[in-house]
Amino acid sequence: MIEAVLFDLSGVLYTGTEPIPGAVESIQKLNKAGLPIRYITNTTRSPRGKILKRLQSMGFAIHEDQLLTAPVAARHYLIEKGLSPFLLIHPDLKVEFADLESNNSNAVLVGDAGSAFTYEHMNQAFRLLVEGVPLIAMGKNRYFREQDGLSLDAGPFVVALEYAAETEAILIGKPSPEFFRAALESIHAKAENTIMVGDDVEADVIGALDAGLQGILVRTGKYRSGDEKKIEGRAVCLDDINTVVEWILDQKTN
Ligand SMILES: [Mg+2]
Repeated sequence: MIEAVLFDLSGVLYTGTEPIPGAVESIQKLNKAGLPIRYITNTTRSPRGKILKRLQSMGFAIHEDQLLTAPVAARHYLIEKGLSPFLLIHPDLKVEFADLESNNSNAVLVGDAGSAFTYEHMNQAFRLLVEGVPLIAMGKNRYFREQDGLSLDAGPFVVALEYAAETEAILIGKPSPEFFRAALESIHAKAENTIMVGDDVEADVIGALDAGLQGILVRTGKYRSGDEKKIEGRAVCLDDINTVVEWILDQKTN
C-alpha cells in the first residue's frame, strides 16, 4: 500500500536549471491521483523561497508547505539548542541564518558552500571545532550533477573537518531519520506506506529504507551504473520520474 510520496529535487525533478523531460506532467498526474506529496532536499545553495520560485518557474505545481529543506531544519535545530553558528555555507544561503550569527560562535554550520570552501574558511571552522564546538552538517552527500557534469557536494568537506578535528558531525538533512520523520509527520503518513524517490542511493534511498520507508532509485541525475547493487532486494530502480509515477499509480490501483 502506498499512501504518500516523498521526492528528492535535484536529479529527480530537474538537472541544473532544466526539468527532466515529462516531469512536470508526471507530477500533475500524481497530484490528480490525490496522493500527499512532500519534496525533501539537502540542497543548500539557495534559500527555500528561491528554490520554490525556481520550481514554479519550471512549471511544477508545488506549494510552499510541501517543500522541506535541510537549511530550514538546521535553523530549527540551532534555535532549539541556543547555538550561534560560524557559517561555512554558500553566500546566497546566508540570509536564512543572518539573525543567528554572532562574534562568539558556539557551533559550525556546513552546507554546500561551493567556491566559498576556501582554505581560510575551512581553517576558521577547524579552529572552532578543535576547541570543542559542535559540527552541524546540512548533508553529507558526496556529489551532485550539474549541467556540465558531477560536482563536489558538502560531504567531502564535512569529512575533512571531522578528520582534522577528530569529531563527528551532527547530520540534519537526509539520511538523518529525523528529517524523514518530519516529512512524514507533516502529512500524517506511516513510514511503511510512504515511498522516497531519489537519485542518491545513499542519502535518499538507503536513508529512507533505514528509516522504515520504501524507496525508489531513479537512473537520472547523479545515478551511476551499478548504484542499484547497493539496494538489491530492498528497493527498485526505475528509469526516471515518469516511470516512477506510472509504477506508483499502478500499485495504487492494484
Ligand atoms: Mg538529488
